[in-house]
Amino acid sequence: MRPDYAAILETIHAEVQPLIGQGELAGYIPELAKVPIERFGMAVYRLDGTVHSIGDAAARFSLQSVTKLFALALAFSREGDAIWSRVGREPSGNPFNSLVQLEYERGIPRNPFINAGALVITDILTSRFVQADLAVLQFMQMLSNEPGIDFDQAVARSERATAHRNSAMAHFMKGFGNLHNDVDRVIDNYCRQCSITMSCVELARAGSFLAQHGTVPWSGVKVLERSPAKRLNALMLTCGTYDAAGDFAYRVGLPAKSGVGGGILAVVPGEATVAVWSPGLDANGNSLVGTYALERFTDLTAQSIF
Ligand code: GLU
Repeated sequence: MRPDYAAILETIHAEVQPLIGQGELAGYIPELAKVPIERFGMAVYRLDGTVHSIGDAAARFSLQSVTKLFALALAFSREGDAIWSRVGREPSGNPFNSLVQLEYERGIPRNPFINAGALVITDILTSRFVQADLAVLQFMQMLSNEPGIDFDQAVARSERATAHRNSAMAHFMKGFGNLHNDVDRVIDNYCRQCSITMSCVELARAGSFLAQHGTVPWSGVKVLERSPAKRLNALMLTCGTYDAAGDFAYRVGLPAKSGVGGGILAVVPGEATVAVWSPGLDANGNSLVGTYALERFTDLTAQSIF
């Protein structure tokens, strides 16, 4: 029997209230520290096009690392398995912006969702497209059917001005020959990509191809073949929620990608995508309320991959 999504979202909305305000904003990007911590939105996009949403689900927020999923999908669709010669597929066991692992793994990042791996993906896109940042934006506009989606220039500038760790990682990888373009150009593209804003409703729609074997349900456009779509979901499950992917799988049980803007996109294969946003982060950088909301979602709907 199909779950009553509307009623379940109402229940979750009530249940998260005591947690709202907990966690920390991503203050290391100064512009993100200005976002009101009490915001909460959630949207379910079913593959038949039905949308259910609650709270601030129509408000746009900074996607940050959630965009790594779309950049990877774009690079994977163009370059295929060639990307795996430059980035791994294992959980890192380290924070998303850690430098130490790169040293002993000789400039090959553990996976495409930690910052170093995402910088390699941005480098691949920088080689492939005249303007890699625009290529990712246009890809996401197409997937969400929202031509108005855009960069947040203030957030992009704010991250660019403080991108010391990411620049260090990029230089380091260039030292190992695993970054082909100019470091500043790659960092520019990366910061702009991370600044893209979307609402939960838009994000859930944009990710829906992941729930349907790589094909966008509402347009029929094949973004990825079945097999790469399966592999992307596997990477989300094992590496998509920072150094907490094990705990996230235990609690939520869905492939997901989070970002330090407080957004999480989760995939219910064959059924729906779920986007949640609440900017207070837990110690690992995942939305504290968002993770709890997804945990309750899979409990109440009995829809997890396990
Ligand atoms: N733009 C952020 C950074 O590189 C993204 C981090 C994230 O959302 O995980 O620090």
